[in-house]
Amino acid sequence: MRRKLVVGNWKMNGSRTANSVLLSGVVAGLTPAGAACAVCVPAPYLAQCEAELSGTPLAWGAQDMSAYASGAYTGEVAAGMLLDFACSYVILGHSERRAYHVESDALVAQKTVAALAAGLTPIVCIGETLAQREAGQTEAVVGAQLGAVLDAIGAGDVARIVLAYEPVWAIGTGKTATPQMAQDVHLLLRAQVATKNAAAAAGVQILYGGSMKPDNAKELMAMPDIDGGLIGGAALKAADFLAIVHAAD
Ligand code: 13P
Repeated sequence: MRRKLVVGNWKMNGSRTANSVLLSGVVAGLTPAGAACAVCVPAPYLAQCEAELSGTPLAWGAQDMSAYASGAYTGEVAAGMLLDFACSYVILGHSERRAYHVESDALVAQKTVAALAAGLTPIVCIGETLAQREAGQTEAVVGAQLGAVLDAIGAGDVARIVLAYEPVWAIGTGKTATPQMAQDVHLLLRAQVATKNAAAAAGVQILYGGSMKPDNAKELMAMPDIDGGLIGGAALKAADFLAIVHAAD
């Protein structure tokens, strides 16, 4: 049985003061036997997470990282730097990075390899745009995004990745995929993972992201291949985030 995982993606939100309130509010509401839980915060706040979350059940991570270990890459953050702040997770290939920073499937795959090599757990985001869905290309698009990552990693590393299916048209729009729409894609993704490592595929956590809220989280996470959520807007209020975490318990 896969343990559920709920991850908050704060995106470019936060301040030292607001973060403290949010982090302590979330930690206070977590139950030991519940779903696994993490927050992925802007890089400048990783030190604050380490200071305030060490020893709590709330893990933390980053929202992106470089494919390179070090060097002349102005503005970039390396996997080793994330480890310096005791990160467990790093989100890779978020659709906002793919759209605004022109990240290709190949680059996301390279970053995944670098994250695994450093000992981080990559949360690899996959998803189609509305135009792609309407053109009947969902399967081809998500298949290519996942295929690039699977081709780049070793079969033994399959068990170390987390996938997040985030239909681009559902992100920040209030339009959620129906549980069945999401489940259909999650099942496809798991079948594709199984072509690389059949034994590991059954254990890979596949999160859903895109307007997951307290009022729809339970029915989404009740689907057999939806193993948790990657939460944007609703991760910015402790009560909403906790309600989603508890919907996964
Ligand atoms: P929203 O929950 O705000 O739709 O964002 C989802 C997301 O992009 C998480 O990575």
